[in-house]
Amino acid sequence: MRKDIKEILINEVTLQRRIDELGVEITKDYEGKNPLIICVLKGAVLFMADLVQRIDTTLEMDFMAISSYGDSTKTSGQVRILKDLEKSVENRDILIVEDIVDSGLTLAYIINLLRERNANSIKVCTLLEKPARRVAQVKMDYIGFEVPDEFVVGYGLDYAERYRNLPYIGILKEEIYNT
Ligand code: 5GP
Repeated sequence: MRKDIKEILINEVTLQRRIDELGVEITKDYEGKNPLIICVLKGAVLFMADLVQRIDTTLEMDFMAISSYGDSTKTSGQVRILKDLEKSVENRDILIVEDIVDSGLTLAYIINLLRERNANSIKVCTLLEKPARRVAQVKMDYIGFEVPDEFVVGYGLDYAERYRNLPYIGILKEEIYNT
């Protein structure tokens, strides 16, 4: 798989170190609360698993699957729920865990939905943010890394369902998605 990667952007050690820091920050902010941590599937699943182990407070987890990209590297702008939450968000303090915020449309959709469902508070923790192609202005409370306008894979992020199991974030070679 490494042969399909043009460049490793964020290696395993750097990723894990930053997640340590985010865990400390989130623990401080949610002390004494019982937040509901929402993982946006499938891309955020590895990040979620590592992050929650570093949050030292009582918490609950839930999962939601949203479709936005399909197999191409461009957003369709159309967002739809593939799997909804199991728990009620009413009066809960919510932390949304995302893999990457690109156009921001997915996140804007989720935040809107949780607002309509009367969450008490909504914060966002994203591993990556790609500011170059932002369409919807969304507030992110915890950001792992800013990335350039390149298609990245690994550590949960896929191309056509592949590369999610890489332990690092890499830039995919153009010839992989141009063929
Ligand atoms: P947005 O709605 O912000 O444009 O896109 C959000 C979703 O698009 C992310 O959760 C992710 O699944 C996908 N996405 C955006 N940029 C990238 C990228 O560079 N690589 C991969 N693998 N997925 C991306």
